[in-house]
Amino acid sequence: MWHGIEGHDDVVERFRQALARGRLAHTFLFVGPEGVGKRTFAKKLAQALLCQKSPPSEGGARGGDVLDPCEKCPACLQVAAGSHPDLIQIARPEEKSSLPVELFIGSREKRGQEGLCHELALKPFMGGRRIAIIDDADDLAIEGANALLKTLEEPPPQSVLILIGTSEQRQLPTIRSRCQVVYFRPLPEDVLARLIQQQEIAATAEEARRLARFAGGSLTAARELADPALWEFRSSFLADLATIGKASVALSAKVTAFVGEAGKEAPRRRARARQVLAFAEDFFRQLLRTTSGLALEGDDVLRKAVERASAAGPGAEAAAAGAERCLDALEHIDRNASVDTALCCWADDLGRIAATGQPLPPIA
Ligand SMILES: [Zn+2]
Repeated sequence: MWHGIEGHDDVVERFRQALARGRLAHTFLFVGPEGVGKRTFAKKLAQALLCQKSPPSEGGARGGDVLDPCEKCPACLQVAAGSHPDLIQIARPEEKSSLPVELFIGSREKRGQEGLCHELALKPFMGGRRIAIIDDADDLAIEGANALLKTLEEPPPQSVLILIGTSEQRQLPTIRSRCQVVYFRPLPEDVLARLIQQQEIAATAEEARRLARFAGGSLTAARELADPALWEFRSSFLADLATIGKASVALSAKVTAFVGEAGKEAPRRRARARQVLAFAEDFFRQLLRTTSGLALEGDDVLRKAVERASAAGPGAEAAAAGAERCLDALEHIDRNASVDTALCCWADDLGRIAATGQPLPPIA
């Protein structure tokens, strides 16, 4: 753990070593899933680089001393409050689909006299550096990227620029090739459970563990999962899954209706469909464990549903096929397939698997 930041010790170490060798790059691209702490890390890094009490001794031999913000000096406090004059932060405005070019090179009237590129090149006001953080780098459009290019090609001395996105593939090649890429992994389940409780997303340790199990290492996903309606739905949904061989049409209608309640916006419906499919995938995986004589991992609701399903005597093959089919559906949803169609086909196939006890025949 580094100053309250968990799960990314490898990244801290990389920055420490670069500083100790006096070889800190100017431009970084932070990539990793939403909600694993990239933003928090970037801000803490800025604090460490700007701290007045224990500034990193670049190239110095202080070793473990580097990257250790005191969190008390005026610079540290200003970074925490977002008011440090040497820290520039931009993000995509909520109503826009991309980062406006004005944020980089200023408005039409003041082209080149304001904006991130101009500000980053100014002399540091307080500390020895100027730092800029560009959030939502996935949404950098060509115009904005072109505006940024000169800064990336010839970074101002003493400047550090950090772009934050979800994956390397989503960045324009001109940007990607000019940044040092830093990967952030999903948070380990136990770390995530601890964070969920610390941030009061869940009231009890048990609930925190339950959310962490389905959140895939992301605090954002955990927050989305902390919806009582979702868990209420899961109880009856798991019971239905246990008898899906007889009622796949009813289940399909029920799931589509529940997903529809998430709202009109496609991303919200997609997110909810993903949650439901993850519950189903977990159900079949646990059914497979049970039919294979392994202990079930999960709560009482899941245990009851799995026991009921396994009493009907499906083989391990059918359970594995069910889990597989859920993963396929998740992939379809991620590839922007129609949510309703994907869910209908999925329920239909699950019904057939359960009714026949056999995996689906391969599509010719
Ligand atoms: Zn400080």
